[in-house]
Amino acid sequence: MSRIKEDPGLFPPLPADTEIPEGTDRRAFLIRSAVIGAAAVMTGCNMSKEEQAQRAASEAATPPPAAAAKKALGAAMSDDLDVVARSKGPVMTILEEFYKVGPGPSSSHTIGPMRITYDFYQRCTQLPADQLAKATGLKVHLYGSLSATGKGHGTERAALAGLLGKEPASIDPAFLEEMVAKPEQSYPLKLGDKTFNLTLADIVYDSPTGEFPHPNTMTCKLMGGEQPVYELEYYSPGGGFYEWKGYTPPKKGAPKYPYATMKELRQHAETNKLSIAQVIMANELAVSGKSESDINAFLDKIASAMLATVKAGLSAKDDVLPGPIKLHSKAAAVFARSKEKKYESDRAIAQVSAFALAASEENARGHLVITAPTGGSAGVMPAVVYALVEGPRKIPMDKVREGLLAGAAIGYLCKHNATLSGAEGGCQSEIGVASAMSAAFLAQVYDSPPLVTENAAESALEHHLGMTCDPVAGYVQVPCIERCAFGAVKAWVAALIATNEIASRHRVDLDTTIETLAETGRDMSNKYKETSEGGLAANLVLC
Ligand code: SF4
Repeated sequence: MSRIKEDPGLFPPLPADTEIPEGTDRRAFLIRSAVIGAAAVMTGCNMSKEEQAQRAASEAATPPPAAAAKKALGAAMSDDLDVVARSKGPVMTILEEFYKVGPGPSSSHTIGPMRITYDFYQRCTQLPADQLAKATGLKVHLYGSLSATGKGHGTERAALAGLLGKEPASIDPAFLEEMVAKPEQSYPLKLGDKTFNLTLADIVYDSPTGEFPHPNTMTCKLMGGEQPVYELEYYSPGGGFYEWKGYTPPKKGAPKYPYATMKELRQHAETNKLSIAQVIMANELAVSGKSESDINAFLDKIASAMLATVKAGLSAKDDVLPGPIKLHSKAAAVFARSKEKKYESDRAIAQVSAFALAASEENARGHLVITAPTGGSAGVMPAVVYALVEGPRKIPMDKVREGLLAGAAIGYLCKHNATLSGAEGGCQSEIGVASAMSAAFLAQVYDSPPLVTENAAESALEHHLGMTCDPVAGYVQVPCIERCAFGAVKAWVAALIATNEIASRHRVDLDTTIETLAETGRDMSNKYKETSEGGLAANLVLC
């Protein structure tokens, strides 16, 4: 053991008898001591100097991921995945796949896993009787980012709820909250003529590192004693989408206006004198085979859910959000102050921020939100929709539909040519895409021509490039909640710039920015891809 003999200058003094444990990097120890000490003072954390030193020693002793020679998360996705293969043809995504209602806090770590285990249970019910006769229980194994940050996202509760036949769009969030309150509780599940009692222990946080086809990989198993009698590997690539090993996409109709890039989409619109929303509606009719009234009814349902999530968030007064961060909600306070005469000049920004905080706090509570495009970013677009519908403009529902269609076009393109998953591309893929979708929503609602709509989306996405995903303690709260407010405000700024500039002078096209999003995501260290191993997640001291 070595002893600190003097104040090293840069760092505050430690107790005179503080020892640097053998094998601990001195510099790392001093830095962690300084950070922990400063955080304790700032947060009013009641931690003695000795506790601070002990904690610094343990954190300094933990080798950084590179030094630990950890295997990288499965960031390089397998070419076998449909989500990869589909990026080669025209966009085929439809609205019902894209905008999904489900419980927060994450589309990839909550909604996706719940849909996956629901699917697995349905498959099990179809198995032959002799196979079912051998079954003794079910197990789910979570890998990669699902394992690294699943606890903070409630992945185990979502996965268990799916096995029990709960679907994201209709689940009562109170069911998930009960699992938090009673983690030991067992739940009966009928399969064939047997009943299994499942608990959260049946959802296993397996290896966070390794070579997986996708960073969000999970395996569902029907067990017969220690051996699986039936198993299937699944992937949750973001936005609540899911695939499984050997997945083939369902048959769909051919799009009326095939496009794989914004350039192609805009050409269709300009050649046929249509808005972006009209092109997307025509494609939706052709690809989904649904009627226009069904599609409009779906869009109205999504818009209503967005308005409801903001309203619910605004009515929650200064509660403490679930998890170890002990973060207080603030949407209601920001909204209340925005209405005071004294703050009139701040009102527009304050209110759109409050609306985004409100929906994002609902996400953190695990209440129902809408993936636009993901759970983490679920505050951005609802804030813009709410501001236009409930604010002074009072836009009618047909304009909201058009905005949602234009926003979907941007989300489709980002999914097609980059990613919507923080685990693949960092937060630029979630809040950045949500902001770009919202900017397109605004431009479309203002009846902007296609190029202006593109420019608005481009500008919003451009100013999120490089943004990392580092949720503190694996909870979708810090930085996610405030980031939704910034995403919504940036969307508004982008739409304002785009609708005021001469469109043809805009120097960056959306395709280039989406390509940059994809490239930056590929180059980004895995520490910053929803693993909670880097950034704020590594540096913020909670106590
Ligand atoms: S940091 Fe961004 S990408 Fe990561 S969980 Fe939060 S909102 Fe999602």
